[in-house]
This record gives sequence, C-alpha cells and structure tokens, in this order.
Amino acid sequence: MVAAVAVALAGCGAATGGPAGGDRAPTTTPAQAPSAALSPAAGDETAVAAGSSGTGFRGSISAIRAGTRARMRFSWRRGCPVGPVELRLLRVDHWGFDRRVHRGELVVHRDHARRILKVMEQLFRARYPIQRLRLVDAYRGDDDRSMAANNTSGFNCRKVSGTRVWSEHAYGRAIDVNPLRNPYVTRGGRVSPPAGRPYANRSGRAPGMIHSGDQVVRAFAAAGWEWGGRWSGARDYQHFSSTGR
Ligand SMILES: [Zn+2]
Repeated sequence: MVAAVAVALAGCGAATGGPAGGDRAPTTTPAQAPSAALSPAAGDETAVAAGSSGTGFRGSISAIRAGTRARMRFSWRRGCPVGPVELRLLRVDHWGFDRRVHRGELVVHRDHARRILKVMEQLFRARYPIQRLRLVDAYRGDDDRSMAANNTSGFNCRKVSGTRVWSEHAYGRAIDVNPLRNPYVTRGGRVSPPAGRPYANRSGRAPGMIHSGDQVVRAFAAAGWEWGGRWSGARDYQHFSSTGR
C-alpha cells in the first residue's frame, strides 16, 4: 500500500505518554529495512499523515519541541544516550480494545520515525487493537506501571532491568506492544508484568496477543524490526526493536 498526503501538525497539546517495557535478554540479530517513501522527515516539524485507501488512518511525526520535552521529564534527562533532537513524536490513530479509534502518542528515534508510522498504519488497517498508547511519562517513566496498564510505548531512557546497560528503549529503537497481554517471561517462568501471567501461555487468542507470523510481527518485520517473542531462553512477547536486542 502506498500512503499519501502530507500534513503538518504541531504543538504538543493533548495526549498522554506511553512507555516501554523492557528489553531484557538479547539474542537475535538486527536487520534494517528500507524506509517507506513518505515525505521527507528531515528536520523539525515534519508531519506526515498517511491517509490511504479509505482506511482513514491519520498519523503525524513531529520534532520534540518544548511542550513535549516538558512532558517527557520522566523519560528523558541529561546523560541519556540520545537527545531530544534525535527523537520524534508520533501521533497516530489506533483501534482500541473498545473497538473504537483513538489517537495515541509514541516517541521513537528520528531514524525510525517514518517506518514506525508505516507500521502503525498497517496495524490500524489490520484493526489490531492497542489498549493504550501513551508516553511512559504518564506513568512517571515507571515501566512496571506502564506495563501493568497494558500501555504500548517506545522511548524511555532506562537501563535493561537488573543491569547497568542502556535498554534499546533508551535509544528510541524499541517498542513494547500491549505488554500485559504480551508479557516478558523468563526461562524460569517469572512473568513481567505479574498481572500478565494469564497470557504467559501463548496458545491463547485474547485481543492484542501477538503470535509468530501474525500481522503485528509481519508489520514490524517489514520495517526491519524484530520480535522478542522469538528470543531463545527468556522471551519478551511485547518487545520489538530495530537491533534485535
Ligand atoms: Zn521492550
């Protein structure tokens, strides 16, 4: 499908934040995909609305301006591996668990902004439901709280749980999708978030659950992003990243 239409948005008015889950155990290898040929998102205020073939999807990409940066006070601070200038705010339509269309927000690295916009459009078109899409700052940057709320999120300047290593989320190159329905499960069976335990059994088909080869995995794969559900050992069913970590 080809997206069309370019629109400019700005401001940082509404919306809430959304956060990220965790990259925890690495394993796979990276792969970059060619980015979609949407309008040039080079500089600052780029905003791209991909409105295509009647799906009604609307999305935009914006630089992190003062208002957004102020809202990101929990997810970004000095000393983080990437600065606000390297990040982009995506505002996108998504289907909710209530079967209605909502507008959510997601922060990712600028190098991935357009291809993630495309992913979000594909998820919209597939009517894949996302319960919440808020900056992790809505949960004070607390990944556990964000996961417990089943909030989908990207950028969060934090370390890999239990380590001193920056998470891929700290670079804006990872997204956790419906983390309660797609928990992180260690080899020993520990489940994070704890409330996601009913979904540690992956044979279920509850809304939002991600399975190998499904439309969610395929949409991210088309962008060159890999799924943590395919890791060996611990599996992070909510986690997608451009690096495979
Ligand atoms: Zn993650």
